[in-house]
Amino acid sequence: MRIVPFGATREVTGSCHLLLAEGRRILLDCGLYQGRGEEEKNHAPFGFDPKGVEAVVLTHAHLDHVGRLPRLFREGFRGPVYATQATWLLARIVLEDALKVMENPPFAPEDVEEAFRHARPLEYGEWLRLGDLTLSLGQAGHLPGSAFVVAHGEGKVFVYSGDLGNREKVVLPDPSLPPKAHLVLCEGTYGDRPHRSFKDTVREFLEVLGETLSRGGKVFIPSFAVERAQEILFLLYEEGHRLPKAPIYLDSPMASRVLELYPRLVRYFSEEVQAYFLQGKNPFRPRHLEVVESVEASKALNREPGPMVVIAGSGMLSGGRILHHLKHGLSDPKNALVFVGYQPRGGLGAEILARPQVVRILGEEVPLRASVHTLGGFSGHAGQDELLDWLEGQPQVVLVHGEEEKLLALGKLLALRGQGVRLGDFGEGIEI
Ligand SMILES: [Zn+2]
Repeated sequence: MRIVPFGATREVTGSCHLLLAEGRRILLDCGLYQGRGEEEKNHAPFGFDPKGVEAVVLTHAHLDHVGRLPRLFREGFRGPVYATQATWLLARIVLEDALKVMENPPFAPEDVEEAFRHARPLEYGEWLRLGDLTLSLGQAGHLPGSAFVVAHGEGKVFVYSGDLGNREKVVLPDPSLPPKAHLVLCEGTYGDRPHRSFKDTVREFLEVLGETLSRGGKVFIPSFAVERAQEILFLLYEEGHRLPKAPIYLDSPMASRVLELYPRLVRYFSEEVQAYFLQGKNPFRPRHLEVVESVEASKALNREPGPMVVIAGSGMLSGGRILHHLKHGLSDPKNALVFVGYQPRGGLGAEILARPQVVRILGEEVPLRASVHTLGGFSGHAGQDELLDWLEGQPQVVLVHGEEEKLLALGKLLALRGQGVRLGDFGEGIEI
């Protein structure tokens, strides 16, 4: 049995790993590279022959795990693709959005359709038998339907983590523990540090909202469209009664599509969320929620007085409707900008967090007078302590999906515990 990483090596995006076992070639994830200067890589050769792959298993619907799947079909792959139903439903929204926003996507709409024609459901705990190789999915707690993969073949057990969720959060189930394996291929996005406590994060979030809304200000929340935006809505549903009355605008067409989908995904949520649905309530629709459809309606919000909450994309301020809101709203000291997601180095978010007097947004100089807050505890990934717990007792670990220094920090702690550990490298096969 061998595993060969073909993406997300010493970096976060582009997850794509080839498992060779029992004479078969199975691809685990087929993700897009994202971020500045990364798009080129999506057009480079995969590093293996797509026609030689027998099947694909997807861990979850994030673009950096599914985004090159249509390209795999474009290059001749015709096998089945396995994922949970939630992953399939979310992947459609994610891939269609990618086609819209990417300047130069490495696939066409017909490739997306071809991929969906080969979609096969695989739910947690079911066994997928491919001859003598068997595969199954475990709960990863990172997105609705997100999974880690367990493979049995050639007398060996192999585990691929996919992305592991933050167990303190409420909306999704906690990640399950993997079986003891001969080798684990594991993500290390936050391998260098634990997260701030989620309870403290929520408390701070409510404080900022309470103060801003009571002075009639606007709260801008840039948010990822899948999962994070809905999680914020869930918090506002549960805690909204503690806040001054104000409209909550969901100003992201993609997040609205995901919100529409959520009632079909009930079984993928935590028991707490399921309990609401079983009582006939939708906990992702707080009171005073207004879904903003058109660009005109979105721009009209700039002229409305506060108080209000605006949740808009993109989460990393790399484009989208949030930019209009910030261009008009950051100069007013009554307003607040609240980051609930990671802001990459060199991006507008990181620039704003350094609190300059003026920021340039959509070609305009905007005085930065609004308050700015960043709340780290909303991360959708396991923190360092959670990764260490999840990997407890595993003799061999290969780390991927993280910046090199973060993987090294985690690797050091694993080595100190006596575990075998190395970083994955592109195209370098590892014997299991
Ligand atoms: Zn992910």
